[in-house]
Amino acid sequence: MILDLVTYPTASLAQICQPITEITPEIRQVAEDMLETMYDAPGVGLAAPQVGKNIRMVVIDPEWSKDVPRKPRVLINPVLTLLGDMVTSEQEGCLSVPLNYRADVQRASKVLLQAQDLDGNSIQEEHEDFYAYCLQHEIDHLDGVLFIDKIGRLRRTMYDAKVKKWLKRKTN
Ligand code: ZN
Repeated sequence: MILDLVTYPTASLAQICQPITEITPEIRQVAEDMLETMYDAPGVGLAAPQVGKNIRMVVIDPEWSKDVPRKPRVLINPVLTLLGDMVTSEQEGCLSVPLNYRADVQRASKVLLQAQDLDGNSIQEEHEDFYAYCLQHEIDHLDGVLFIDKIGRLRRTMYDAKVKKWLKRKTN
């Protein structure tokens, strides 16, 4: 089932998500629905708070494109250790950030990922470049952080003004 996406400035996007203590059939269903929603959007990553669930789960497929077959992944309680130099991730966007806004963001070039999969198996992997940026972006969501929290204050003020205008038009 395709789920409704929660968009900025909804307050729940800024909340810290709760750890998953047991992988229940309900969690599996949410994971499946999140993947369906992500591919439909289309996007290469989605975090549970983006579909209104306050739990530490993300789905990703950073390499997916028209020419690359789907490799859906579900990460439960993911934790990142930033390893590489800070570099610029160009033109980041987010399914929860309206007006298709994009900006350059500072990200670690390399990360260590620790998580569990849906079967409770431990995952421990290193990732670089776009895959690493994607993980940082999605896992930030679990701590209530959006990529627009990482842009300069002036840019943020300008963006917030645009969103305000857009919301006003929408409700009129
Ligand atoms: Zn996002």
